[in-house]
Amino acid sequence: MSKRTCPICERAVLAREENSAFPFCSSRCQLVDLGHWLDGEYRVPGEPAEVADSGIPSDSSEG
Ligand SMILES: [Zn+2]
Repeated sequence: MSKRTCPICERAVLAREENSAFPFCSSRCQLVDLGHWLDGEYRVPGEPAEVADSGIPSDSSEG
């Protein structure tokens, strides 16, 4: 049995069955990861770095 940690905040991640945000600890960290993509932090080699300026709607934190 291996324990997973959130790639964003490195906290313990619940099992997939009880965690809809898997492999993140929460939907919040899931959005943070998505934000990195939109922000161009993770760039795909060979692809033009052209990102539209669209923000993520701030959702009320849950849990
Ligand atoms: Zn996290």
